[in-house]
Amino acid sequence: MTDKPATIWEKTILTLQREIPAASFATWFSKVNPLSLNNGEFVIEVPDLFIKGGIERRYRELVERAASDACGYKTRLLIKVSPDSADVSLDPPTLASRDASIIQPHDTLPLNRDYTFDMFVRGKNNHLAYAASMAVAEAPGKAYNPLFIYGSVGLGKTHLLQAIGNFMVASGLPKTVVYTTSERFAIELIMAIRNNTTPAFREKYRRIDLLLIDDVQFLEGKEATQEELFHTFNELYGSEKQIVLSSDRPPEKLSGLQDRLVSRFRWGLVADIQPPDLETRIAILREKASNRGIQVDDDILELIARRISSNVRALEGALIKAIAHSELQGAKLTPKNIEGMLPEEGKREKLTIAHIKDEVAMRYHLKRHDLEGASRKKEISQARHMAIYLARDMTNNSFPAIGKQFGNRDHTTIMHSYMKVKTLLKETPLLQAELNEMKEGLLARFQENS
Ligand code: ADP
Ligand code: MG
Repeated sequence: MTDKPATIWEKTILTLQREIPAASFATWFSKVNPLSLNNGEFVIEVPDLFIKGGIERRYRELVERAASDACGYKTRLLIKVSPDSADVSLDPPTLASRDASIIQPHDTLPLNRDYTFDMFVRGKNNHLAYAASMAVAEAPGKAYNPLFIYGSVGLGKTHLLQAIGNFMVASGLPKTVVYTTSERFAIELIMAIRNNTTPAFREKYRRIDLLLIDDVQFLEGKEATQEELFHTFNELYGSEKQIVLSSDRPPEKLSGLQDRLVSRFRWGLVADIQPPDLETRIAILREKASNRGIQVDDDILELIARRISSNVRALEGALIKAIAHSELQGAKLTPKNIEGMLPEEGKREKLTIAHIKDEVAMRYHLKRHDLEGASRKKEISQARHMAIYLARDMTNNSFPAIGKQFGNRDHTTIMHSYMKVKTLLKETPLLQAELNEMKEGLLARFQENS
């Protein structure tokens, strides 16, 4: 069967526009080019790896559903990165200019659609944070303002913040929801100052109904950003708009923050999330397995839950690894089979370059040898730069040693990749977010050795 890809894409877009916030739509889909549609395989082209990754992770299912509806038969999506501008992928102009267009008034980071209240497993450890988030979602600006959620990494802070956002978006009310991280807020402010667009920046942040700011601990030492946030806070609070913040520690432990800001963080409700107990960990694993449509025996879930106790992301990672393993070997999951695969808590394996390559390759649907090889295809070389950056940043390997593990590249080439990414990170929030997510994923499973 062959259909006109452009026509189908137009219909698909209509559904997407109906189902996702306008700002997210603009961020992810404004530069998509439909290429072909043959035998149910719908090929679209995007400008770079970040857009590809974002669509893959957040919207693949939705796009496939919308496209299938548009054609009247089941369609699978294949996303290609545009080959134009060959390599040079990570050269500042390309990314920086695209990113500048993202940071426009009313443009925001997209919410992850999987982070909903439904998908959040409640336990004693997160009861207060969950109940407070729910209350805030149902009566924004009325219940607790601000709501401040804190807890260590991988315990569900981002999930809850976004669940509040998703709830409000799904309510269908014409409310403006902005999810951001403190790092991104800071970068947007810097860009606004540089481009003389501070009034637009203020306008954007002071005219919203729900402001979600993740990881405020990164505001430490950033004076100008704190100042700006202080005024934003007052403005929103004064007009009964809801503010929700998260941090890895309680407000009083945020030492590099202005007292007046910290005191405002405590005006509403401060709720903590603790590591889940065994029962909750099993429940979380069961939920994650069933989301993947996989039935896993209770004794297996319990074994995994007993081994990993302090981080939900790591818990999820171990489950996925176990499932992948058994699928690859065509073997049933048994306690004996997975015993050896699970890390002993506190005795995590040391992070190596091979782990980094696997993480980057998996994220971008590439193979490890693509990263090592000589391909100059844009999407491969971008991913390679990132892997090299992470290798230098997270392990104690020298540039020549890293070069050996990336197809015997010369150390100056490696250094060049590293510096390229480093420079770009300063001005590209999207890249920063990508790297942070990969780093977090790696740190949840391995022990850093730099
Ligand atoms: P944090 O922001 O606190 O570092 P995240 O919100 O990113 O943590 O959570 C890490 C992962 O664990 C996410 O995939 C999230 O969906 C999952 N997760 C955390 N807590 C729960 C929970 N109670 N129920 C279901 N999933 C959870
Ligand atoms: Mg988080």
